Amino acid sequence: MSGNRTGVPNPPAIVLADDRIPFPDTDQVLCCRTSPALFQIEDIPNTDQDPRAREKALAKAKHACSGCPIVKDCLKWALANPALTQTGVWAATTKRDRTQLRKQLVARLGEDWVGVVAEQDRLRRERARAVRAVPPTARELALARLELESIPTRPAPYNRWKEPITPAQAASNQRVLALVASGKAA
Ligand code: SF4
Repeated sequence: MSGNRTGVPNPPAIVLADDRIPFPDTDQVLCCRTSPALFQIEDIPNTDQDPRAREKALAKAKHACSGCPIVKDCLKWALANPALTQTGVWAATTKRDRTQLRKQLVARLGEDWVGVVAEQDRLRRERARAVRAVPPTARELALARLELESIPTRPAPYNRWKEPITPAQAASNQRVLALVASGKAA
């Protein structure tokens, strides 16, 4: 009979996620949300028609994860939540991969490796906040104003100039560069 010693039936077991490692936020469309069945490889049987069906599904799921924008944080979350990730592919890992990785983390960081990783994340966020809190120097501001024709290493959504810069923009660049070179904007 289900129930506890008071006779009150046991509530359904709800497994809560370990909130020390939150699941990463993203606006991007995730393959595991649009095609969850693909990631539930245990449910994909090999058949006479396709004796390698599960292996193929695993390869597809791993490929999808490899292009996922949050794969690193997804893996961290999946490792921190074994009860919630007992099956399926998470961050290109199978259940067996995750068990192995958890053992390695325990060996490296100790039984409370989740706490250690969460603390490392917290310190990293603090450092990033501290860096942002330092106001940019006049030189950095001046350089940021430069209207260059192309900076190939700039990340999206920077739009490269399609047109040559105008004489006014060129003159403005000259002024800013002269200011920087003279050290007045340092
Ligand atoms: S890495 Fe994680 S969030 Fe991304 S597709 Fe794979 S399982 Fe989904």
